[in-house]
Amino acid sequence: MLSPEAQMQFLLMLRNRGVPDHVLQAMEKVPRNMFVEGHFQTHALDDMALPIDAGQTISQPSVVAKMTEALEVGSRHKVLEIGTGSGYQAAILSHLARRVYSLERHRKLSIKARARIDALNLRNVIITTGDGSLGMPDQSPFDRILLTAAAEDPPANLLEQLRMGGIMVLPVGQSDAVQSLIKIEKTEKGLNYTELGEVRFVPLVAGIAKNDGG
Ligand code: SAH
Repeated sequence: MLSPEAQMQFLLMLRNRGVPDHVLQAMEKVPRNMFVEGHFQTHALDDMALPIDAGQTISQPSVVAKMTEALEVGSRHKVLEIGTGSGYQAAILSHLARRVYSLERHRKLSIKARARIDALNLRNVIITTGDGSLGMPDQSPFDRILLTAAAEDPPANLLEQLRMGGIMVLPVGQSDAVQSLIKIEKTEKGLNYTELGEVRFVPLVAGIAKNDGG
C-alpha cells in the first residue's frame, strides 16, 4: 500500500510540472503501484518508466500526464489506445472518456491489465489482444487515438479510423533513438501536426506476439 503522504507528493510533483487539474484528478484515482509488480512497487510513485512483463515498460507518470493532456479527452469520447502494457494509461483514460478500447500484442500483458481494470471496477475499458497497427475498424471512427509505442510514421490505418475533428497523439521515430511526441488533428483541410517534445518509448511491432507465456 502507498501512504497518503506519498500519493500527495506524487500529485504535487505532477502539478509542479504543469499538469492540469482534470488530468491530476484522473491520475489521483489510479494507484500506480497496482500496475507494477514485486520490487518495482516501491518505485511506483517515482517519475520514471518501470519494467513490466514481456520486456515492456509502464511509461513515466509525467509523460502519461502530458499525453493525456494533449489528447484533450472529453466525457463523450470514444478513445483507442495502442499498447495497453500494464493498463495504467487505459485506467486513467477511463476516468475522462466515455469508452476506452485498448489493444496489446502480448496476450500475457492484456490478461494482467484486464484483471487490474476489473479490480478497479472500470467498466468502460475494453482490452483486446491484437495488432494495434491495424486498429479496430469495427469500432471506428474514434474521437481520440493514443499510441504508447513508437511508430516510424503515423500508421495510415489509424489515421483512417480517426474521426474528422479528432486528435491522435503518438511518439514517432526510430526505436533506438530519441523520438518526438506529436499531436495530429484531423481537419477538413488536412492534418495539423504539433510537436510536443522528446520522448522514449518501446517500438510499435507488427503482429501478435508469439510464445510470451500468456
Ligand atoms: N500504455 C502502457 C505502456 C505501454 S508500453 C501502460 O500504461 O503501461 C508499449 C506497449 O505497446 C507494450 O506493451 C508493447 O507490447 C505494445 N505494443 C507494441 N507494438 C504493438 C502493436 N502493434 N499492437 C499492440 N500493442 C503493441
